[in-house]
Amino acid sequence: MAAACARDGAAEAAGAPIQPPVFTRGFALFPDGAVVDARGVTVVPPRPPAVAEDAGLRRRVEALEAAAERGSLPRDAAPGAVEAAEATADPLAGCRALRFAARTGLGAGEDSLVLRACETLLDRWPDATAEGEYPFGAGAAAAACEVRRRRLGARAPGAGAAFVEAALAWRRALVRAPLDPAVASSEAADVRRLAAGAAPLLAEAERLEEGLPALDESDRNADCVRPAAVRSALREGASGGRPRWVSVPGPEGEPLTFCVAAAAAGAAVAFRTDAATLRGALVLPLARTLTVHDGVAVRLLSPDRRPLDGRESAPSSRAILASLSVPLPTGALLAEAALTDPLVLESEAARSRNLVVGVFAAAAVALGLGSLLVLRMVRAEVRLARMKADFVSAVSHDLKTPLTSIRMFLETLREGRARTEEERRECLDVVDREAGRLERMVHRVLEFSRVAAGVRTMRREPADPAEVVREAAQVFRGRLLEGECDLRVDVAPGIPVIPLDRDAVTQVVLDLLENAHKYTPEASRRIALRAGPGPGRGVRIEVEDNGPGIPHSEREKVFQEFYRVERPGLEAVGGTGLGLALVRRLAEAHGGSVRVADGSGGGSLFVVEIPGRPA
Ligand code: ADP
Repeated sequence: MAAACARDGAAEAAGAPIQPPVFTRGFALFPDGAVVDARGVTVVPPRPPAVAEDAGLRRRVEALEAAAERGSLPRDAAPGAVEAAEATADPLAGCRALRFAARTGLGAGEDSLVLRACETLLDRWPDATAEGEYPFGAGAAAAACEVRRRRLGARAPGAGAAFVEAALAWRRALVRAPLDPAVASSEAADVRRLAAGAAPLLAEAERLEEGLPALDESDRNADCVRPAAVRSALREGASGGRPRWVSVPGPEGEPLTFCVAAAAAGAAVAFRTDAATLRGALVLPLARTLTVHDGVAVRLLSPDRRPLDGRESAPSSRAILASLSVPLPTGALLAEAALTDPLVLESEAARSRNLVVGVFAAAAVALGLGSLLVLRMVRAEVRLARMKADFVSAVSHDLKTPLTSIRMFLETLREGRARTEEERRECLDVVDREAGRLERMVHRVLEFSRVAAGVRTMRREPADPAEVVREAAQVFRGRLLEGECDLRVDVAPGIPVIPLDRDAVTQVVLDLLENAHKYTPEASRRIALRAGPGPGRGVRIEVEDNGPGIPHSEREKVFQEFYRVERPGLEAVGGTGLGLALVRRLAEAHGGSVRVADGSGGGSLFVVEIPGRPA
């Protein structure tokens, strides 16, 4: 809005705001007809104020000009014309009087008269011009220049400075004048020529030449606004409300597009734009509706599909993604998003494909894993349920067998079927043995449930493990009322006294001995019970038999609760699946362990290790 600011801020009291896009150049038209460009340079001078015509002077000057042509000019005609011009308010009449005086003075070599006439003209009406003619001010400046040059040649004092001043005045007059470019440059050549004639003032001449590009620029602006179309558009804009697009042919035939808006009462502001800024303004809204990826270009095209900014050529219609048509006074403009690199689409498609495949694969894997997990959980549940059912039936069976024997032998006694004292003792022995079996079984189940529930706490006191092992062997032997059994007990010396829960360790040894007895066929049954120093200043207890052994795959499982190895032919051997689970829990309660390995005779070798110091 620099243009508007340059004129008393008249346009600053703006009415309608100028909407985007941002424009490259602006002009403001003022009620007095002046047009000022964006840099504040007046490219069209204001219309001179209407003054009363000085008809008398006009007639007098016409008469003087005619007399000069005839060669019958009175002697004081020129000074008289200057005086009359100084007195009048009519610029046209005054300028013509002064021009007559200056020409006459130049012809007669009366330099003082010429300078007086020129200075008066430049002082009062520098921009005055007869309609469509060369401005009087420029001519006056040129004449003054010529006089100064002459005086410079005559080496008159102060002539150099006066020459420069005159030349600058001439240049100022040229800049202000809306000249034809050809005229402007021929005038500029005159300035250069004059400057060249004054050797001492060469530096000043150079300074003048530096000013010439500015002159040219100003002249181009003048070209833009001189056409009557622009002026009338600006005038219309001054009266209209909303900003409007106006297009006029430029100096080189290209369309110049303006946005014209009313700025203040009677004033209009026009902003000129070009393809590049227009492109930015139109492409932005288009781009907002699109996701512009790499490989997609958004460009502005003329209606005949020529790129407006002269860059890449228009693509084939197949590659156009979206387009937008914008009506302008110059015709429709096409903004379009086009695919410049088809590979981008391919890689996008490949990425999407990979994503879908990846998602499906991940879903399949998750589904598979989930199913597997569920299957395992179900199988574990089923196995546990089956083991519990087996446990119930095993316990029932194990309870029933001794109870049946007890009842049977008690009945024999009651009915007096045992006649001799020996027979009666045998009956009582069986009842006693079966009751013992019952008691041990119930004790084992109760012991396990107490240990599992954490109710059974270990009472560890210093004890001699060798002694405990020997006692357990004794108890076991006491129970061996039936069947053959070759039990060898081997207790090595040097086992330290360690803190033990005697009952628990006895239970461990007895359970292992009972299992060895239970699962080894009677015919060749051999059991070895060994004890010796163990790791960590503790004890190591081994129970080995020559029974069927335990398959590798079952060696860890046999220590789980309710787990029993299915053995064809040994179904009749009773059991709850709790014996080894209890052994492990009791050993671990001492900070020890139990494991099973191959016995030397093909049977099982159970190894219990209890450390002397708590781990
Ligand atoms: P159960 O009450 O069935 O004996 P255990 O927990 O004591 O339960 O034993 C689990 C399983 O280990 C048994 O079913 C048995 O098949 C196997 N087992 C235990 N000790 C021996 C052994 N000395 N020889 C062969 N198999 C054994």
